Amino acid sequence: MKNVAVVGAQWGDEGKGKVVDLYSARADLIVRFQGGNNAGHTLVVNGKKTVLHLIPSGVLHPGKICLIANGVVFDPAVFFEEVDSLVAAGAVGPNPHQFIKVSERAHVILPYHCLMDRLREEKASKGAGKIGTTVRGIGPAYEDKVARRGVQVIDLLRPEVLRRKLEHAIEEKNVLLRHYFEGPAIQLEPLYAECLKLGQRLRPFVADVRKLMVEALKAGRPILFEGAQGTLLDVDHGTYPFVTSSNTVSGGALTGTGMGPSAISQVIGITKAYTTRVGTGPFPTEIEVTEKETAELIRKVGVEFGATTGRLRRVGWLDLVALKYAVEVNGLTGLAFMKADVLQNFATIKVCTSYQLDGRTLLDLPSCVEDLERVSPHYEVLPGWGSFDPKKAKNLADLPRTLQDYLQYVEKFLGVPIVLMSTGPGREETIQIKDPFSDSCCCN
Ligand code: GDP
Repeated sequence: MKNVAVVGAQWGDEGKGKVVDLYSARADLIVRFQGGNNAGHTLVVNGKKTVLHLIPSGVLHPGKICLIANGVVFDPAVFFEEVDSLVAAGAVGPNPHQFIKVSERAHVILPYHCLMDRLREEKASKGAGKIGTTVRGIGPAYEDKVARRGVQVIDLLRPEVLRRKLEHAIEEKNVLLRHYFEGPAIQLEPLYAECLKLGQRLRPFVADVRKLMVEALKAGRPILFEGAQGTLLDVDHGTYPFVTSSNTVSGGALTGTGMGPSAISQVIGITKAYTTRVGTGPFPTEIEVTEKETAELIRKVGVEFGATTGRLRRVGWLDLVALKYAVEVNGLTGLAFMKADVLQNFATIKVCTSYQLDGRTLLDLPSCVEDLERVSPHYEVLPGWGSFDPKKAKNLADLPRTLQDYLQYVEKFLGVPIVLMSTGPGREETIQIKDPFSDSCCCN
């Protein structure tokens, strides 16, 4: 039995939630390793819609252990909102702390992080530096972590340490808030009282998550590492500075949990049959201006609006140059291919196979974001695949021949097998080609 990491291979919103939900059935432990409550998975339980931003979507599979590891920045207030809504919906029993655990080492998102995030975006929106964050305090919480003035989950359970850390953190923040942002200052006492209260409620959920994982590894219990956002949003390897604040690539699954490299045996990258991007930043295959009607059609049929923010997603053709980069930087061993159903009845389908820049052909993603902004995509134009019934497609052979050819083209270009083909949002609208949890999968 193997351990599998699932990561977004594009700019996020690839459909990780569905794949994680499917793979959760095969794992005993499901672990979030980076990001915060800026992930967004929509799940329907007993006819009720639940959007999870923080708790692993594996929570809906009875008997699974759901872990929030050290690499995550953790907002306790959001966490309890999600726990309460899951309990109210009857999705989980009355004792969720028995199977949801939060790392002692995870850094806490505090109200001042959200405040700073919002004020910073507001200020930047008047200039050119807007990142388009979800203003949930995630970036500022990671900043404090690296600046060594963060508050960790364990601190919420230690009143003296907590007070000292909060005092230290807000001293500088208040100078910034008053004089740079011209906003309200943070009052220590109410914040301290609120943190202690949240800490008390959190106590039964707090655990040494790394140790729980080590024990599971020793016992041969399969683990699913659940990535959030996407490769091109990685703080080190993405389109910096238009990125998120954490390592979204598979390496983040190791540092974000405290595991060694051998803990992960398969890395599955999720990609759509086209590309989307939320927020600002370079997007070589974007067609919002060049093929406006096609962009609007894809957005409408694919429901390309953010689950977390409702923001409109920018739409473009599949970018195989960027995807090849994702294969390399994550060490992908398999691909999950989503949403080909959205492109049904298109006469032709374009895929970008190289970029042009200043008369040169680029086969790789340039490191410099200013260059990436200037590239023009070179497309191969492939035949469309007409229509198919997603509910009836149980094997690849049930798909139109042109779609099968297209999948083979993508596999050959990237040198990675497609292990899962999603033909619709439903669980049953899936063709599982290879099982990454089995010992015979995939490339190694
Ligand atoms: P995530 O953040 O990567 O999990 O992606 P989102 O949840 O934001 O976006 C995925 C959306 O696409 C969800 O609403 C899914 O229900 C839906 N979805 C997933 N796979 C497919 C598919 O193959 N076809 C269609 N039409 N929708 C899909």
